[in-house]
Amino acid sequence: MRIAIVSDVHSNLEGLQAVLRHAEAGGPVDGVWCLGDIVGYGPEPSAVLAELRRRALVAVAGNHDLAACGRMGVEEFNRTAAEAAVWSGEQLSEAERGYLRALPLTAVSGAFTLVHGSLRHPEWEYLLSSEQALAQFELQQTAYSLVGHSHLPFWVEEEAGRSPEFRRAGDGTRLELGERRLIINPGSCGQPRDGDPRASYVLYDDGAATVTWHRIEYDIAETQRKMERAGLDAWLAERLAVGR
Ligand code: ZN
Repeated sequence: MRIAIVSDVHSNLEGLQAVLRHAEAGGPVDGVWCLGDIVGYGPEPSAVLAELRRRALVAVAGNHDLAACGRMGVEEFNRTAAEAAVWSGEQLSEAERGYLRALPLTAVSGAFTLVHGSLRHPEWEYLLSSEQALAQFELQQTAYSLVGHSHLPFWVEEEAGRSPEFRRAGDGTRLELGERRLIINPGSCGQPRDGDPRASYVLYDDGAATVTWHRIEYDIAETQRKMERAGLDAWLAERLAVGR
């Protein structure tokens, strides 16, 4: 079984399609796991949602999904994010907003728990420190947890008596899952923030018991043109080219 794990797609259809093409070129893909923020920031919320839902999809809600469907207010968003969330909600049909409203905050698939931010604060926490990783392992009922939200690809291994260390994952980083407990962030498919503008995702191969990070080039200029036509904030388009 091969699963494409994506997060923070943020209405970026070119990024998502490039990732899915890459995953499907390597063999049959049996499902897509999405760690939230399907919408927000980017120009095509409806098309991205449809592209994901054409696959066997397991998805959890991110803060932008919750804001776009009205399940969460935008008071805690900065102005640009708030405007983009409201705009995204307006592009979606009532049925699409209903789909987002019904998304769970966490989901378990096999040995993996999926969540957007962290298990203690699914919608909001950026899991980036050793203290936060310890809290996550404490709450984690499965061997592995998958998080997004920070848009940074990394992994953390639980080590007895040691403060957990964050390890950056780049293109081609491959992990044997083994017996250990792990926190894994696939990075962002639609708005990377680690200085590498290529779309990021993880491919899970259950036969080989491995996860592999991949960085995929996509037509950033096309996404930017669509954002400009939609009247979205210029900075949101500019940041795609620099991966920030
Ligand atoms: Zn996000």
